[in-house]
Amino acid sequence: MSTYVWSYLAEYENEREDILDAVDTVFRSGQLILGPSVAGFEEEFAAYHGLRHGVGVDNGTNAVKLGLEALGVGPGDEVITVSNTAAPTVIAIDGAGAKPVFVDVREEDFLIDTAQVAAAITPRTKALLPVHLYGQCVDFAPLRALADEHGLKILEDCAQSHGARHHGRLAGTLGDAAAFSFYPTKVLGAYGDAGAVVTSDDEIDQNLRRLRYYGMEKVYYVVQTPGHNSRLDEVQAEILRRKLRRLDAYIAGRQAVARRYEEALGDLTGPGGLLLPSTTPGNEHVYYVYVVRHPERDRIIERLRSYGIALNISYPWPVHTMTGFSHLGYQAGSLPVTERLAKEIFSLPMYPALSEELQDKVIAALREVLSTL
Ligand SMILES: *Cc1c(COP(=O)(O)O)cnc(C)c1O
Repeated sequence: MSTYVWSYLAEYENEREDILDAVDTVFRSGQLILGPSVAGFEEEFAAYHGLRHGVGVDNGTNAVKLGLEALGVGPGDEVITVSNTAAPTVIAIDGAGAKPVFVDVREEDFLIDTAQVAAAITPRTKALLPVHLYGQCVDFAPLRALADEHGLKILEDCAQSHGARHHGRLAGTLGDAAAFSFYPTKVLGAYGDAGAVVTSDDEIDQNLRRLRYYGMEKVYYVVQTPGHNSRLDEVQAEILRRKLRRLDAYIAGRQAVARRYEEALGDLTGPGGLLLPSTTPGNEHVYYVYVVRHPERDRIIERLRSYGIALNISYPWPVHTMTGFSHLGYQAGSLPVTERLAKEIFSLPMYPALSEELQDKVIAALREVLSTL
């Protein structure tokens, strides 16, 4: 069995008492749905960001979907995003009834190429959905300028960037609202599915609370506009409250793992060979995934398998090339950087509880494979 795919078990060993106490606290509270733990987590997660509101939802996909709906996005609208993202970003646009419009990413950081956004704006464009992919923020100022010029809303997809900073500001504080996933592998992960949207806009907050609760104002039991059942679970909320206090430590742990990769592999990098992640000036990277690039990616992955090392690719298939999105009409070749990256990128093991021993094993195997390609 390969030992290198992410697992929460090492973390659970370290935090078991606290996690079990969180579960017990909720079970003994007498309130299993939208109780004090959800309210507490919402308040603390918003405060972490210096924002007024946090709204807990059931997962990150629905955080993006409800976030868009709360901004007024619906059928007939277009939302500009990237194809180099996790498919749920795009599923959420589709789920809100809107049409995803893709722009390409930059070679330097694999994030949205803001220079291409203006040309993608049409009279139907309602919102921009930048994705702070892999753990660092997109170049935000050009997006804000375009949004102001064209009257667009901005929802940040922060599913991979908890605690990341952009010119000193936290991811999630840049747009009109921001969607987070707490999928277990994420920088802040629950012990199951969970998500949240943060904003300082009172109306967006009210919209979100209605949308996640069938479309009702809770006290009146009357549906204003049909919504969803997308509540954050009380148990996950209490676990997230505990883990939020350790978020900065998790990030420091990830950054330490990244530094060790850099020290151990930096001498092998170069054009046409191995490329390690680069942090764009102004960004603080939280390394949700440690994405490296090499033109011989498939051979490297195959060879590493014989060392018992199974690596992930985030992501092997650009969303616009998936059969499920063929109706959008994108041809192969329409997003050349995205398509090239998908063939060349792979991820090295990255999580705070990754032991130096395991990391060294991966480093040694990779050095050996690269020297005999
Ligand atoms: C994980 C992720 C999501 C979806 O979150 P879930 O909690 O799995 O629904 C959305 N966008 C991005 C960029 C993600 O990485």
